[in-house]
Amino acid sequence: MISVERALQLIETSVAALDVVRVSIAEAVGRVVAQDVVSDVDSPPHDKSVMDGYAVIANDVHDGVKLRVVETIVAGDWPRQGIQRGTCAKIMTGAPIPVGADSVVMLESTESLEDDGGSWIRVNSQEPISAGRHMLKRAASLAAGETVFHVGHRIRATDIGLLAEVGASHVDVYRQPSVAVLSTGNELVAAHDIPRRGQIRNSNGPMLAALCRKMGFPVTDLGIVHDHPGELRSKIEMGLEREILLLSGGVSAGILDLVPKTLADLSVQNVFHGVAVKPGKPIWFGVLKKEGKRTLVFGLPGNPVSSLVCFTLFVRAAMARMAGLDPQPHYSWATLAKPHDVRGNRPTYWPGRTVTGLEKWLVEPIEWQGSSDMRALGVADVLIFLNTPPASHAAGEAVPVLRLD
Ligand code: AMP
Ligand code: MG
Repeated sequence: MISVERALQLIETSVAALDVVRVSIAEAVGRVVAQDVVSDVDSPPHDKSVMDGYAVIANDVHDGVKLRVVETIVAGDWPRQGIQRGTCAKIMTGAPIPVGADSVVMLESTESLEDDGGSWIRVNSQEPISAGRHMLKRAASLAAGETVFHVGHRIRATDIGLLAEVGASHVDVYRQPSVAVLSTGNELVAAHDIPRRGQIRNSNGPMLAALCRKMGFPVTDLGIVHDHPGELRSKIEMGLEREILLLSGGVSAGILDLVPKTLADLSVQNVFHGVAVKPGKPIWFGVLKKEGKRTLVFGLPGNPVSSLVCFTLFVRAAMARMAGLDPQPHYSWATLAKPHDVRGNRPTYWPGRTVTGLEKWLVEPIEWQGSSDMRALGVADVLIFLNTPPASHAAGEAVPVLRLD
């Protein structure tokens, strides 16, 4: 049996080079940048006002001064005149600052005077008017040619506005390979069925499909297949058409655990079978290489929490690597809120619920019946990593946790 770290290394070396696709920004959230995004504009593109007011020459202005208004500039206009001593331009937020002006006086600090047939204002400002006030210089936030997102950045909804601003209507991102999910077991019925004697509902299929979709990967759920060699083989063959096949169940040592043999018969090369982790020990991983294409195959243990832990540690790593993200699990640290004993001899992932303490981020281990107990997962928001069982962990001990989503 290999360690989690070794399994992650083997997965990493089994993932082929990443493909790049171009997507529109309407579809870019969650995707990972595959080519640096460079701005084609300065931002702002011109010196601009950030207030509604008057563009002025700062050292021409003091409390009580009268200025002639030479024009009105709104956002989208371009100034037709420069500003000289004794004059100003009425200017709205976002509009370009006219030549000569170097400051903006807020509308609220002025009063308009209609006399001499022209348009005049008086400045009523106790504060001194300084150059650069209430305006932004051209390229103050960004210059044309600057990189705004580097390769490897995962695009958030909040990034879309900047992408649009810099003209990146389409972005090169890593392709997200297609996934098939197949749940094996004579005992399984679908979620909409009433289980008869000896039957249980298929938790893994819908959960694994949801976890893949959450990562943005297109999924085909191939449903349930019985532990029957012929049926299993033909369903697995369908799944091998995809780039990742997730099987659940049938990888342990039981008399109907037919998955490893069926995969071997279909020329899927085993990379590892069995990892020192609890739950999840029987996990099987292999690769089918055919006609220049490859399919990664994960045989996940049937118990749903085992499947979930194996997905979180291993499948996610493979998918992250394919999608251009860091494949390592992302641990945070929390403080055990109460003492916790773990038995066994494998590194253990135990469901936990985090609570915000006064100073610390606390985590409570949840009462849990083991790898078939999904009920506990319903109230958990993390898996607590306990590396060296058997051990007694004291309240106050710092423990790494992995977030569930
Ligand atoms: P297996 O890995 O096939 O030996 O299954 C281990 C345990 O997980 C058995 O108790 C199965 O009934 C259960 N199991 C297998 N597949 C599923 C599934 N898709 N949903 C819920 N439980 C499952
Ligand atoms: Mg089974």
